[in-house]
Amino acid sequence: MTGIEIAQLMDELHRIHRQIVDINYRERKLKRSVALGQEQVNVARKELESKRDAKQIALLDANEKEREAARVAQELERRREQLNLAKSDREFEALKIQIQLEERKNDSLADLTLEALAAVDAIDEEIKSAELKIREAEGVLNKAKDSHDQNAPKLAADLEHTRQRLREAESKLPRGLSGIYSRCVSDFGGEDALAPLSSGGYCGSCNCQIPIETVMDVCSGSAICCSACGRLLYMPEGYRLQ
Ligand SMILES: [Zn+2]
Repeated sequence: MTGIEIAQLMDELHRIHRQIVDINYRERKLKRSVALGQEQVNVARKELESKRDAKQIALLDANEKEREAARVAQELERRREQLNLAKSDREFEALKIQIQLEERKNDSLADLTLEALAAVDAIDEEIKSAELKIREAEGVLNKAKDSHDQNAPKLAADLEHTRQRLREAESKLPRGLSGIYSRCVSDFGGEDALAPLSSGGYCGSCNCQIPIETVMDVCSGSAICCSACGRLLYMPEGYRLQ
């Protein structure tokens, strides 16, 4: 194999590795969108649950206050009847004071009951908004699922096809390159295993300057790793030293 043929092969291998990384990234992105959508639905459902629990508590509170108000109103009524039957001025005055106190208590309980009922209404509004949030989150989730179902099979097929192209390209590597290439792929992962020379004779991965003799050797197709970062160097298509 000539230096140019090796350079073309390495260029192709690097391109295929980048394509595989890109396909994997897009697959993960689709899955992440579905997981994120599901998470949002779960959060919204939990919020609705907690609002419903809060409504139960607020309803119990309002009911208790209503019962207490009814009890005090009944008591007040009884005192007023006693007032009509008072046998002495003293008893009349004492009952009047008690009635005044109970009237105040009655007013305050009426206010508290109204507040408790208003709290129930406020929670009802929060429940409506939590239900809306669930519907919105479910809409986002369904879109993410549709997108996943539509695109995932195509990506899987692309990945299989690209891996096949990689195997074919790898099988063309000369024996002297194949071992170093495999070691670099296993050490750094496909995309990061290879480093194209960059203009001026630098490593395309770590940017270290490569000695000119080494650049010449790489251009003639020798298997040489960057002494700084360990990536397998190659001459990219259309490479110019300067
Ligand atoms: Zn390097």
